[in-house]
Amino acid sequence: MNQKRILVTGGTGFIGSHLCKKLIDMGHYVICLDNNFTGSLKNINELIIDSNKGKSNFEFIRHDITQPILLEVDEIYHLACPASPKAYQYNSIKTIKTNILGTLNSLGIAKRTKAKILLTSTSEIYGDPLISPQNEEYWGNVNPIGVRSCYDEGKRVAETLMIEYKRNHNVDIRIARIFNTYGPKMNRDDGRVVSNFINQILDNKDITIYGDGSQTRSFCYINDMVEGLIKLMDSEKYIGPINLGNPHEITIKNLANKIKDLIIESSSKITYQDLPQDDPTKRKPDIDKAIRNLRWNPLIDLEEGLNSTINYFKMIR
Ligand code: UDP
Repeated sequence: MNQKRILVTGGTGFIGSHLCKKLIDMGHYVICLDNNFTGSLKNINELIIDSNKGKSNFEFIRHDITQPILLEVDEIYHLACPASPKAYQYNSIKTIKTNILGTLNSLGIAKRTKAKILLTSTSEIYGDPLISPQNEEYWGNVNPIGVRSCYDEGKRVAETLMIEYKRNHNVDIRIARIFNTYGPKMNRDDGRVVSNFINQILDNKDITIYGDGSQTRSFCYINDMVEGLIKLMDSEKYIGPINLGNPHEITIKNLANKIKDLIIESSSKITYQDLPQDDPTKRKPDIDKAIRNLRWNPLIDLEEGLNSTINYFKMIR
């Protein structure tokens, strides 16, 4: 195997930490970079222990990617950015800086070292979509001055920066548009729907549905997502933007009932709260391009993925 030096920005986060582990298991040398704003050293604990014992090719650098850094690498997975609405709205200007300066700094490393660079963009660039499912040709319906725009517009600019570095400097880029992803190591307090519902039901607390629960999302299990990201990076021809997500669409109300059925023993009741501003009414990826170009298809169904996520949250209590 050809061992590569791979930088993962946002490497202590939910998706980043799973990606670091997988790349190490594949035999690569991984540099994990994070400021731990939403990520946590707990997520990479086993990787740090193994590397201290000389058993894994892993190092962690505590650094904020809005500041330049000089590193020598072959590939960059640029994930760094808070991704849950609660986290990215907490310091919205910082979120924009992370998307713009963080992407510029990552692209700077790629240009200087001739590394391949993959940006994790998001389904949020489609805003509150007027078509469903969303395919990559759709330009989106984004409010430029709403509470979500620091993230939505930030990621849109990040995509623009990627494509301009390709046009101007021939940097070898990949762009993935990640749809809702869930699984073990999600942050239990980040306010996202899967972690909220599971923990509310395990704690016998009210289940907080925002709005009437008729809005839809399509949830992809973490292992499938990591597979998709690596396949995109490794793909010779296809650079994206490409949707990665599970097309199985479900209403938020049905999701609440499904998680309640899986946990069984709980006295939690559904409650309804105000719908946050600009909350998309539907979201479902068209993944035809990923199937054809990457030979990638999510394999883990919602029930199986929810069960392992529930077990994770039971374990860390
Ligand atoms: N949601 C909810 N209750 C919660 C958390 C979220 O009803 O406790 C809804 C939220 O309004 C949205 C969907 O679940 O319609 C997904 O929210 P999340 O924050 O997980 O991600 P998003 O897809 O909105 O970025």
